[in-house]
Amino acid sequence: MLGLMQDWPLLIHRIIDHAAIQHGNREVVSRSVEGPIRRTTYAKVREKALKLAKKLSGSGVKVGDRVATLAWNTDRHLELWYGITGIGAITHTVNPRLFPEQIAWIIDHAEDRLLFLDLTFVKLVEGIQDKLPTIERYIILTDREHMPETALKGAVSYEDWLAEGDADFAWAKLDENTAAGLCYTSGTTGGPKGVLYSHRSNVLHAMACAMPDYMGLSSRSVVMPVVPLFHANSWSLAYSAPMTGAKLVLPGMKLDGASLLELLNGEGVTLTAAVPTVWLGLLQHLEATGEKLTSLKRVVIGGSACPRAMTEAFEKKYGVTVDHAWGMTETSPIGSFCTIKPDYADLEGEALYDLKVKQGHPQFTVEFRLTDDEGKELPWDGKTFGRLKVRGPAVAGAYYRHEQPILDEHGFFDTGDVATIDAHGYMQVTDRSKDVIKSGGEWISSIELENLAVGHPDVAEAAVIGVAHPKWDERPLLVIVPKPGRTPGKEEMLAFMTGKIAKWWLPDDVVLVEAIPHTATGKIQKTALREMFKEYRLP
Ligand code: ADP
Repeated sequence: MLGLMQDWPLLIHRIIDHAAIQHGNREVVSRSVEGPIRRTTYAKVREKALKLAKKLSGSGVKVGDRVATLAWNTDRHLELWYGITGIGAITHTVNPRLFPEQIAWIIDHAEDRLLFLDLTFVKLVEGIQDKLPTIERYIILTDREHMPETALKGAVSYEDWLAEGDADFAWAKLDENTAAGLCYTSGTTGGPKGVLYSHRSNVLHAMACAMPDYMGLSSRSVVMPVVPLFHANSWSLAYSAPMTGAKLVLPGMKLDGASLLELLNGEGVTLTAAVPTVWLGLLQHLEATGEKLTSLKRVVIGGSACPRAMTEAFEKKYGVTVDHAWGMTETSPIGSFCTIKPDYADLEGEALYDLKVKQGHPQFTVEFRLTDDEGKELPWDGKTFGRLKVRGPAVAGAYYRHEQPILDEHGFFDTGDVATIDAHGYMQVTDRSKDVIKSGGEWISSIELENLAVGHPDVAEAAVIGVAHPKWDERPLLVIVPKPGRTPGKEEMLAFMTGKIAKWWLPDDVVLVEAIPHTATGKIQKTALREMFKEYRLP
């Protein structure tokens, strides 16, 4: 027997409808790519999204067509998110930090029909235009006044293009499983792989993430997603903020410490989110200027492991709570959050920070499983590590235009992360399976060594890779970017780490470098680092 409740599919445009009706005058503040701060509201964002939807529809864009964006976090990008999906087309967010050839490959693979791009990317796209045969027209996210001279086909300014139409449009009636968003992972072997989100998966993910133990949003929150709309749904925030009526602050392209601080304090931001490298910049700026965070209550840090020293700096020096989060493009992307369950309410001091380096517990829509290489389930004892697998309504079931199945016989997706899970369900990533250091048949966690090394006062950034060793197979090499004017030596670093980890985990060598390579999503690029040190021999 079926239930007798109304049929109300979980569609993305219902989020912006709700925001416009219930929180219509709540501000959406952007640092525009042209420079000045721009202010709009949820009601106006909805109106422009409707205009856009009508315009796209009139241009022949149909349900299932892919429309690409190459854009920073601004109100215009937000309008695109809602306008494109509002007609049943698919928002394909392209990561501008990828190499131009990768961008061309991805757009061609997705067969995108239109490309909306920020002013900053005009030159880049002109350079690859001949590799983008499927793009019919380029729309530049600016107004007439700032429109550049360009050779891009059919180029028009977004505001001019929209000005020709009106908002008299009804959102498409769609099945909630209709595809809504496409985001490619950077891909370590072969080409990048496309994760195809649905209306239902994005709505459920945003609802689950908004809950108190996760993003914890309300209409009184002021949220600044520094995590890009162009990668993995900006960790749900561009949906969960309007869903809850939170004010939204979008930082545009300026992600340096001073620019972020201006918005954080100036707009009264209460919650923000980004990868550790972004926060490294902000903390250095705060340290150098002696400025304070005047309204911020919580910072969500994830995408790569949040070093303990970073959590301690935010919490002890600035009174801002750090919530460590884990996820991946394939999990929409939030998979877990390290907030404090009653089981750990008594923890304080060092013991609390020991817990906070963990990646935490999954929200309602994510199930965890821990197995060995043969698929045998492993205990949740906080010690045994194995493959972390996930299942849920916002976890990828297949890749876009990819034949190979990606789920095991129980319907779980293997994350490629090696992890432990404790008795209260807290997960800790030991490493990506390809980065873990195999020494004498045992595993050493590069993440744990990095976390420890960045706790040293002279260290700005640290990375650990395995290097070949005749006896042990691999041994850890610690690569350090020192803080300006400092030169922490090998003996000093090893002495600092001794006693905090097993003796055989201590790196065999310590090397200082000017910079560590990062991926397009701001993570330490271990492949490039291994390449840098391929001629290196241990002493
Ligand atoms: P890519 O950058 O390759 O597109 P994702 O952005 O999807 O991939 O990255 C997902 C991976 O990032 C996870 O599988 C995990 O290895 C790593 N990761 C994400 N968050 C954390 C975290 N808090 N701690 C450690 N690793 C993390």
